[in-house]
Amino acid sequence: MSLISAITAAQRLDSRGVFKAIVPSGASKGDYEAVELRDGDQKTYHGQGVLKAISNVETIIRPALIAEKFKVFDLESIDGFMRKLDGTSDKSKLGANAILGVSMACARAGAAAKVGFRFLAVTKFKTEAYRRKDVPLYDFIRLLSGTPLPYVMPVPFFNVLNGGMHSGNSMAFQEFMIAPVGAKSFTDAVRMGSEVYQELKSVLKSKFGGSAIGVGDEGGFAPPISRPEEALDLLIEAVERCNYTGKVKFGIDPASQEFLLDRFYDLGFKSSDSKKMSSADMQSLYHELIKKYPVVLLEDPFGQDDWESWTEFRKTCKIELVGDDLLATNVTRIKTAGEKKACNALLLKINQIGTITEAIEAAKLAYSYGWSVFVSHRSGETTDDFIADLTVALGTGHLKSGSPCRGERVAKYNRLMDIEQELQTRSVKSSYAGEKFGQTRSV
Ligand code: PEP
Ligand code: MG
Repeated sequence: MSLISAITAAQRLDSRGVFKAIVPSGASKGDYEAVELRDGDQKTYHGQGVLKAISNVETIIRPALIAEKFKVFDLESIDGFMRKLDGTSDKSKLGANAILGVSMACARAGAAAKVGFRFLAVTKFKTEAYRRKDVPLYDFIRLLSGTPLPYVMPVPFFNVLNGGMHSGNSMAFQEFMIAPVGAKSFTDAVRMGSEVYQELKSVLKSKFGGSAIGVGDEGGFAPPISRPEEALDLLIEAVERCNYTGKVKFGIDPASQEFLLDRFYDLGFKSSDSKKMSSADMQSLYHELIKKYPVVLLEDPFGQDDWESWTEFRKTCKIELVGDDLLATNVTRIKTAGEKKACNALLLKINQIGTITEAIEAAKLAYSYGWSVFVSHRSGETTDDFIADLTVALGTGHLKSGSPCRGERVAKYNRLMDIEQELQTRSVKSSYAGEKFGQTRSV
């Protein structure tokens, strides 16, 4: 029978060199994220160890889940049970890192439990008889979430210039992304993105010298620049040199909560020269950037509690406006944002909420408002490629997993190319989201 019989947990490194159990971790974390348990023992890993979370999996979650005799494919019940076992609203008792690791493992076990899955597919989703012998993770989650066919392959948003909390340069804005919307397929988009990335490297080397091509947390370059226009001009040059003008668009995540102080946004927060901007100044700056450059997506332009600025800006913003710290993948925050008309897209980070079931609920709620869903990695990542399958499963049409560089970033892109190839081999219909990256599921 497909019952849970064993669960083990262990510390593993993430890309920042901190031990974690397969679950990633952020640097520019929002205050409303579920709690990640760290040991705080300064003698080990500078207090960043996760032995308490490991112990919670092994001594609390494991025996309780095994005793309940859940079917491994019944992820909703497993996740719901773990939430109750934790009993807090932010998973601070057992740790979102402990719970999420189990939730992800159970999703994989569910996909592997073929007999049980057939049962699930037939009883719960009567319309779709499932006849495959092996069930890929993206299909398991797709059926679980009721995502309609055909499959949509996402546009990869490659973060090629790193600033903010993700690098040591003086650029306040955290991420400048390139999005090959004009590619023919996901695989083609990876090629185009990689070519622009390599071209950018040459541009930076000739402009600033060899020291400018070192990379930040997400594999993007961190040259000695500070203004957003400088970053975008560099991207324009690299894209032009590849002859991809019009085919590669841009996304920006200023991660502005990090430089919000006393109602002012300080663009000089990483240097000795402060450059304080009011919300109105920031709104004008964003409008200018969107007018001058092919920017199609803007994430966290304002702080996590600056609802007024979000709502005001959304009235005139014509591009995708993504809430990350604002929403924290949390349905309560998403509902507030829906009422306030604060944004039009959800950034989906599984470790912000701590179970796969809740991440699916968050995505479905966002879709119900006609929003887009943008799947995201964390700056402290692991080589786990779970979010690649999740992106296809939910048909989100776009994801960000850093630059086409560094193992933990490319693991997701490589998995997505495998999925694209597998779908072709299976002769099932799929399309590349392209220019419609944000409208794959809008109502
Ligand atoms: C982000 O802000 O979107 C991000 C990926 O960074 P972090 O993981 O540091 O929150
Ligand atoms: Mg962000």
